[in-house]
Amino acid sequence: TETVTGPAERTAPAGLPERIQHYVDGELVDSVDGATFDVIDPVTNEVYIQAAAGKKDDVDRAVAAARKAFKEGPWPGMLPRERSRVLHRIADIVTSRDQQLAEMESYDSGLPITQALGQARRAAENFRFFADLVVAQSDDTFKVPGRQINYVNRKPIGVAGLITPWNTPFMLESWKIAPAIATGNTVVLKPAEFTPLSASLWAGIFEEAGVPQGVFNLVNGIGEEAGDALVKHPDVPLISFTGESRTGQLIFANAAPHLKGLSMELGGKSPAVVFADADIEAAVDATIFGVFSLNGERCTAGSRILVQREIYDEFVERYAAQAKRVTVGYPHDPATEVGTLVHPEHFEKVMSYVEIGKQEGRLVAGGGRPEGFETGNFVAPTVFADVAPDARIFQEEIFGPVVAITPFDTDAEALELANDTRYGLAAYVWTDDLKRAHNFAQAIEAGMVWLNSNNVRDLRTPFGGVKASGLGHEGGYRSIDFYTDQQAVHITL
Ligand code: NAD
Repeated sequence: TETVTGPAERTAPAGLPERIQHYVDGELVDSVDGATFDVIDPVTNEVYIQAAAGKKDDVDRAVAAARKAFKEGPWPGMLPRERSRVLHRIADIVTSRDQQLAEMESYDSGLPITQALGQARRAAENFRFFADLVVAQSDDTFKVPGRQINYVNRKPIGVAGLITPWNTPFMLESWKIAPAIATGNTVVLKPAEFTPLSASLWAGIFEEAGVPQGVFNLVNGIGEEAGDALVKHPDVPLISFTGESRTGQLIFANAAPHLKGLSMELGGKSPAVVFADADIEAAVDATIFGVFSLNGERCTAGSRILVQREIYDEFVERYAAQAKRVTVGYPHDPATEVGTLVHPEHFEKVMSYVEIGKQEGRLVAGGGRPEGFETGNFVAPTVFADVAPDARIFQEEIFGPVVAITPFDTDAEALELANDTRYGLAAYVWTDDLKRAHNFAQAIEAGMVWLNSNNVRDLRTPFGGVKASGLGHEGGYRSIDFYTDQQAVHITL
């Protein structure tokens, strides 16, 4: 079958709003001062829509609505089963619109359409999962026969401020909104300014599903204004943030005077360690997917590959050959495996690392714009071999389709290299030796480890990083813990 490949055939997705507004207390609204900002599409880098640029006044309005809904609305006091039914309806609506959602996400972010579709479905799953979890939830009870009963009351906390990045934006928003509202909180979402389109769809979805007015509020705008005002708002006791480590540090400092509950999902520079006894074909396939899927704009990307010396040359050769076969294309083309990076600013950043890499390593695939794509934020899958551990491309998060490969000799050296960055989000280990795999996992400084496995995740497992990659965990019951207070009640018998 023929696939559409050129930008000329590309049309704006159906159902595009006239402009992107805030959503406050059940109403779509513009900014108090009428300000807007430009949103571009990453294939042409032309402005295709305006979004409301929220500032402190807009955040104040949204927080007031969320607070009112928390204090006076039905949501926090509803039975978990009732809230659960609403969340399942949200999931049904998201599923029924997955194609449209994917088209919008792909148009706004540059994600390949097939991958954007997968992310839309994952967003629906997040709602289903937390809908089920709050119904299944049981809380601790401790008994001392004849003396005491102790039990735990789990209570929603209030207005949760949710600040999200531009990579897989719709899915990452669902990852926070679902547990926050499932547990009875109300929310103000501040999505990333590069990709506000898919977030604007939540309002309609929630209204249709029957979420009461004021439970979900959305303020668009840049981080330093809208995000900052949310972080500093005294009536927002919780901030869940996903984004860069240095933004996380700033938010941590800004939230300190209010002693807010903080959850931080931050950057990564995750190692994939391939031992000589590994299934090399499976390891090549998985490590290609691990850094080039989602355009390499993935927090858990395996962006450093450490390979044991005995198989190093063979691995590099096979890896480079496969990287060259990855299909770069227009995001809306179903054959595309790597689309466009999200924004020209990010494109410049990634391209600057490609140039740095040429000084620091041996270029074996890619190295710049792919042939035939003279405009737009396209970067060819780029592979550097023989990268030293003190290289910037070994240490710094690039967040694009660029990978560094480094040899090692012994297990101890592999571990040292794996742990030799400020980050500690994910790690991938490839070996046929079961004991080595488990011992290595235990020793590695990473919040999540995949053994002989691609990046697949059961929604019940904790998600989070160590070192500069994060603070606290979300996922499964950890999300429930973050979004609720656990009050201990003691009774003397
Ligand atoms: P970013 O830190 O630039 O922005 C994230 C969000 O924070 C945006 O909504 C932004 O507007 C807002 N923001 C920026 N400055 C702010 C401030 N001073 N106060 C309040 N809010 C502010 O990150 P990004 O470039 O959008 O996203 C990419 C980063 O996110 C990468 O580092 C990636 O690894 C990380 N990430 C981590 C995870 C994870 O789960 N660990 C998942 C996805 C992405």
